[in-house]
Formats: sequence, C-alpha cells, structure tokens
Amino acid sequence: MVRILLVEDHDAIRRTLTRGLSDLGAVVTAVATAVEAIQSLAADRPDVVLLDLGLPDLDGSDVLTMVRATSDVPVVIGTARDDEREIVRLLDAGADDYLVKPFSAAHAMARVRAVLRRTTTPLSGDQRVVVGDLVIDPSSRTATVAGAELTLSRKEFDLLLALAARAGEVVSKAQLLADVWGLPWGGADRTVDVHLSWLRRKLGETAAAPRYLHSVRGVGVKLVAPISDPTPTTEQP
Ligand code: CA
Repeated sequence: MVRILLVEDHDAIRRTLTRGLSDLGAVVTAVATAVEAIQSLAADRPDVVLLDLGLPDLDGSDVLTMVRATSDVPVVIGTARDDEREIVRLLDAGADDYLVKPFSAAHAMARVRAVLRRTTTPLSGDQRVVVGDLVIDPSSRTATVAGAELTLSRKEFDLLLALAARAGEVVSKAQLLADVWGLPWGGADRTVDVHLSWLRRKLGETAAAPRYLHSVRGVGVKLVAPISDPTPTTEQP
C-alpha cells in the first residue's frame, strides 16, 4: 500500500481527497498545517507527500525546503498557481511533480504512482549490484551466487533487481507490484508472494530459513547479505 501524507488546509478538499485516495487503496494521513506536516513526516514515514502550497502557518515552498533538508521522500505539489516560473522554481527546489488545482483523487494517485516508479528505480543502465556473494548485472540480465549463474525468469530477475536497487531497505509488496509489474495494489495480490517463493528456491533458501530475502511481516521484504557462516576453525595438527 502507498502511504500518502496529504497536506491541505482547505477542509472540504482535504476530506474529498482523503476519501478518494483511500478508495484507490492508499493509506492517507491528512494534516492541515506545515507544523503537522513536518511532525507527520518524521512519525509516519510516508512514501510520498502531496503538498498544498498555500498553508496557514508556512508557505508550502518553505515546507518543501524543510522536507528536503531531512528527507528524500517524493513530494508532489498541489498548486492553484498555474504559473510556470513558480512551478519550475519548485521543481528545482526538490519537488518531484505538481498538480494544478482543482484535481481529482484519481489524477493525484496516477501522479503518485508515476513519481514512485521514477524515484524507486535508481539503478542506471549497467551498474552491477553486489550483495554478499550475490552479484546482479542489469546489462547482461544475469545474477550469480558465488560465481554460479542463477536461471531466472524475466520477472524473477526484475524482482531481484528491484530489491537490489534498495538493498538493505524494506520494500513493500505494493511497491514491488508497481515497479516490476506496473500494477496497482489490490490488497490481496499473491503475484509478488508467488514470485518471491520462486526466487527463494533459486537462491537456495526458504521463507522460514532466509539468507538473502527477509520478509518483514505486514511491511514487505528486504534483500540483505547473509550473515556469514562462522569462520572455519583451523584444525590442530
Ligand atoms: Ca491552501
């Protein structure tokens, strides 16, 4: 599920967007002031922020500056100002996208998904990823464990690559579904689980005895280097 922090001081707009985005499967935390937004950002760790520019306590562009001082969370600006110079300034200041008011929840959700797709695939072309003995090479689309090549389907490779791109971080199943399959999260989708279990088998591990792929219940899964086996003891002569 995508966790959205909605910052909007207009009561009716806030209520309508909260309901609409929730209906589309997002988990929405809605606040009306900049101070609450900064607090929620630290406490709730949203996946994305939808930020109104005209707030009662601080201007949204100042909020954006404060957010960027501490966080890389994607920010989509909601603006009534259809002013190109202002929009360019905000994008330069670290906003990821913008919506001109009035906009629907469906439109906002589409932008949120697009922003998440862009911001969660930081791997460029042929950059290899090394996680313990596992080496993933996007250019040749191969993965090896201790030099032995894994036989992976296209989606298994894409899934492994999506996890490798954020190695050490817990990646939600909704995120994986969006990144690898380009699909919205329906809440009960088994696609990711099924492919994870296939990937585990090929990595020679199980969910009960994980090495590389660690599930975090209710949150997602992360790719980490296995805890190394104990150093072999030197035999006494
Ligand atoms: Ca406002």
